[in-house]
Amino acid sequence: MRARILIIEDDSFSRDLVKFLLESAGYGILVAEDGSVGLALALEHKPDLIICDLQMPVLSGYDVIRGLAKRPDWRRVPLIAVTAFSMRGDREKALAAGFDEHISKPIAPEHFIAQIESHLPEALRAGRRLRY
Ligand code: MN
Repeated sequence: MRARILIIEDDSFSRDLVKFLLESAGYGILVAEDGSVGLALALEHKPDLIICDLQMPVLSGYDVIRGLAKRPDWRRVPLIAVTAFSMRGDREKALAAGFDEHISKPIAPEHFIAQIESHLPEALRAGRRLRY
């Protein structure tokens, strides 16, 4: 079964690009435009993987990960930070907070799906490949 992936991103350009790439690859997508909505959708829909911006209004990506960790009913899934925070130390900070991966913006469309799929169990990968 193909994974359902939650995208939490306040920037519409980044959000639409990530959504387009994942949908084109065959994934089911949920979208949130800020961290608060993202946290609620994660808890309600239990996606298989979460892609999360760090700098967002209402709740940051760090707030989202803390909010999930506090919930006893939350079953951990891969959490991928996709962020413009790409200075020295930012990756380590994201990983220390509990993210499984840190991908810097701008994302590389030709590598993005493979980067995400490396965090999905094989049974949840869509296996569709696009040519660019
Ligand atoms: Mn942002």
